[in-house]
Amino acid sequence: LYIDGEIAPGATVALDPAQARYLVAVMRRGEGDPVRLFDDRTGEYLARIARADARKGSVVVEQRLAPREDVPDLWLCASPIQRDNFALVAEKACELGVRRFVPVAMRRSVVRKVNPERLQRRMVEAAEQCGRTALPELAETRDLAALLDAWPQGRTLFFADELGGVPAPRAFAAAPGPAALLVGPEGGFDDAEREAIRALPSARPVALGPRILRAETAAIAATALWMATCGD
Ligand code: SAM
Repeated sequence: LYIDGEIAPGATVALDPAQARYLVAVMRRGEGDPVRLFDDRTGEYLARIARADARKGSVVVEQRLAPREDVPDLWLCASPIQRDNFALVAEKACELGVRRFVPVAMRRSVVRKVNPERLQRRMVEAAEQCGRTALPELAETRDLAALLDAWPQGRTLFFADELGGVPAPRAFAAAPGPAALLVGPEGGFDDAEREAIRALPSARPVALGPRILRAETAAIAATALWMATCGD
């Protein structure tokens, strides 16, 4: 379970109502049962349930199991997209091991604003479910020009280009090290955007196969391919 605050052995930690309900109703845990906690700062801990009912609970921390996890240095930069699909991308990015999730507004982005609380909640749930002990950093939304202007030296920008590029696994293997993926909105990049991205010295166009994928599929597939190629 994720605890929003620093954990230390010996401390009593209050659970939020959803966590208490999850432990009691879903996991069928009760007083004295072990539970794992992480705080996204100091690491993962073993704790025991002191009390829990369907509305509230507390645990006593016993020992630290592991320091905060060091996740691979991959950013996922993606245009916000419609319905629940952006939260789905945030969830999968967390499961797959992305270090930083960056919403990027583009010319054809239909959705220009994101709900950070909702994205954060989905990433916390994903981390709890998959056993990740360091949350992805959720960056503020910026537009594409601002992203490119402030691009850090030494980080390769692999942009998923529906018009074609180097097959993604080959492109990833050829440029190991700090990386970012960039995925366009439902309507794709426009020509001026594609040109601006290509002008960045560290940009590499990557192809994800012969078909036009939905934006959420492209983001998840590119992340999985990068992790499989460079994520050790
Ligand atoms: N409207 C565009 C078109 O018809 O050409 C398609 C945009 S696609 C739904 C959304 C984004 O997913 C693209 O901007 C790109 O970043 C990524 N994408 C989709 N299919 C891809 C592919 N085969 N290779 C690389 N990127 C792809």
